[in-house]
Amino acid sequence: MGKVVSSILPSIFRILGSTRQLDFVGSLKVLKYNFIVSPARSLNIRFRISMTTLALVFGFSFAGPALAKKKLKQSEARNLKVTYKQIKSGDTLSSILRQHSFDNNQIAKILRDKSFHEPFTLIPKEEFRISQGRKGRFLELKFYERPTDNVFVFWRDGERSGHHLKAENYEVKVRTATGVVNGSILASLKNHVSDDWVAQRFMDAYALDFKLTRVLKRGAKFSVTYEEKFDDGHFVGCGEVLETSLEINGEMKLRKFVNFKNGGSFIANDWIHKSRPFYSPVNYLRITSSYNPRRLHPITRRRQPHLGVDFELPKGDPIYTAYAGRVLRMGKNRAAGRYIVIRHPNGLESYYNHLHKIHPDIKKGKYVANGQVIGEIGCTGYCTKPHLHFAVKQNGRFINPVPKMKSYPFVEKKLISRQIASNKKSQKVVK
Ligand SMILES: [Zn+2]
Repeated sequence: MGKVVSSILPSIFRILGSTRQLDFVGSLKVLKYNFIVSPARSLNIRFRISMTTLALVFGFSFAGPALAKKKLKQSEARNLKVTYKQIKSGDTLSSILRQHSFDNNQIAKILRDKSFHEPFTLIPKEEFRISQGRKGRFLELKFYERPTDNVFVFWRDGERSGHHLKAENYEVKVRTATGVVNGSILASLKNHVSDDWVAQRFMDAYALDFKLTRVLKRGAKFSVTYEEKFDDGHFVGCGEVLETSLEINGEMKLRKFVNFKNGGSFIANDWIHKSRPFYSPVNYLRITSSYNPRRLHPITRRRQPHLGVDFELPKGDPIYTAYAGRVLRMGKNRAAGRYIVIRHPNGLESYYNHLHKIHPDIKKGKYVANGQVIGEIGCTGYCTKPHLHFAVKQNGRFINPVPKMKSYPFVEKKLISRQIASNKKSQKVVK
């Protein structure tokens, strides 16, 4: 539920549009401290918190200042002081909790809850938020999970303590940066946008169609439109990249992000991927490692080819058949973890590695349809962070799967067709 809400929220913000923006500008000061979660509320289950979040968003938009005033009184009573700190390399969850006077029992309680802290990762230099009561009894730590809108919250109040995950309702601003390529595209983007995430997503937008390192010329123009997220007016990082353009071979190539349930993908203005046999096996293509038959291992410096592409996603996200076929092999081994191999027409095979779970319907020799759920994202085998290693063989040899893939999963086929049709229409109007 939390995940659904986190993907719905940006859309709601867009629907509310300027009304919401005005509302936040008009009452930004009043809104301060409104979203701090009281210990009472933190005991609620994730679903209820998410509904509260939704109610708050709608409440502020429609009820406006009256509700804000009421909330302010509550927060004045708490009288919380808010500060931000950077995560240092070497920090661990328990060292941070200890620094903020959580006692041994409270820390042990958190560490026992594996399902909660397993997906929690500390990224050096990223900020976390500390809200403290004036008398020092109440303290809350909030960590931002990126790229989702989720936050991990830890609080203590005397003897009592707790922790939860919830979808945060950030204030979102949309910004556009433009520039020209000077050096690598990544470096050029970083000159204009402070957040690495935006540069990485920009690369993702073109990854299925171009090898940017080869086709880019010095002086090529680019622009990128992206979201900035604020928590009570404090910048916490960039959200999704919404639109990009990049000059390739003298032509501006545009990409648009299309939102769908639990994901989204970049599309071009024309149907360039129609002839590709594979759909995306996941709802969101964030490429963290590309196909590279000559890769050098970063630590051992030995040649260790990467014969597939890695898509980073949260643990438990669905994995789909990229192309209909028959299950050739499945099981578990040391390197691949839980894996499935599917045989397709024309000498093609697809590989799905590191799965958390294989769907019970998947059996050796069984037919699987396009877009059928075959398992869940995980980190089994040689793996440091949940991701899907997706590989394709053609006539018995691994090939780069990317030029054979569409940017969206089969389940979103209709939505993407509609979006491309409407893009074409609006282009005609411009002409
Ligand atoms: Zn891989």
